[in-house]
Amino acid sequence: MTRHLDMLYKTVILEHSKHPKNKMELSDFDVERTVYNPMCGDTIKVQIKVKNQKISTVAFNGEGCAISQASASVMTDLLQHMEIKEAKERIHTFKQMLRGDSQIDLSQLEDGMALQGVVQFPARIRCAQIAWQAVEEAIDTLESSNALDEMKENEVE
Ligand code: ZN
Repeated sequence: MTRHLDMLYKTVILEHSKHPKNKMELSDFDVERTVYNPMCGDTIKVQIKVKNQKISTVAFNGEGCAISQASASVMTDLLQHMEIKEAKERIHTFKQMLRGDSQIDLSQLEDGMALQGVVQFPARIRCAQIAWQAVEEAIDTLESSNALDEMKENEVE
């Protein structure tokens, strides 16, 4: 990573942690999941509302280090209004990035690319991961409860 890019990435992370996007408590949501990172003390709660196989709203709340806050902000910003199928692909790509996989197209992660640098700091990978794990679990919960299919059927009626 060049020095210029490194600086740029730090700026992106700092900006998201100082002014997190979609950090709020939703009153209307389908599922919420909270993931705790005991190594650092981060707690991230993610809430999602799904409509027509799309994430109509995703928000987060919680406390933690700059990386956990920035990662949650980036995640909600990226997945907002995205189709479930596409959102799952992005989550998968983000996880691959944190595993250090260099064969992936990081540009599809937009600001999420900025978190690539945490791979060099194994103790901080979990900080970047928890918001994405929370949203993945929330989607899994919806899918396993067949709530998404029911929503789809309701659409047709
Ligand atoms: Zn942390």
